[in-house]
Amino acid sequence: MPGQSVKLDIRSPLRLNVGFLLHRDVGFNRNFDFDGLGVKVSDDLEVRNLRGSMRFTRTAQGLYGQGNLKAETSLECVRCLKTFDQTLEIRLDDLFVYPPDRASDPLLAVPETGILDLSPLTREYLLLDFPLQPVCRAECRGLCPECGNNLNDKSCQHTQAEVDPRLEVLKDLLS
Ligand SMILES: [Zn+2]
Ligand SMILES: [Zn+2]
Repeated sequence: MPGQSVKLDIRSPLRLNVGFLLHRDVGFNRNFDFDGLGVKVSDDLEVRNLRGSMRFTRTAQGLYGQGNLKAETSLECVRCLKTFDQTLEIRLDDLFVYPPDRASDPLLAVPETGILDLSPLTREYLLLDFPLQPVCRAECRGLCPECGNNLNDKSCQHTQAEVDPRLEVLKDLLS
């Protein structure tokens, strides 16, 4: 995104100092660029390499925020139980209301302090992007149900016994 950027507070990069935008005319905008920061979004969610850009534009109702962010977080693969890096993506497209008493959602209000903490909203959006069944990679072969061997690393003697589940039913009926 072209445009002038505002420096972030490295220690809490999601706390954006947007107060100066409130004193500008409608249409004035500034970018907030994230270039690979590790961020503790909440007590239960940390991300690495937070990157992307958000633009805030002064409107008559407050500040309009737009942008995309990406980051990695650690998840456990449901098949092989290994921890892997999952990339999460969020898209911001929201009006942050000012003055805050006009906002119906407290997450979408610019506080009187002019410090907009995007952490709770970012957490909500990141969680929406969590996969329901996280897998380290699409072709992950998982663990052997017999011996627990990680089939991505090596096969085991049970690997050959892999039968089509429909045939398995037949086999059970026959025995
Ligand atoms: Zn896996
Ligand atoms: Zn096995």
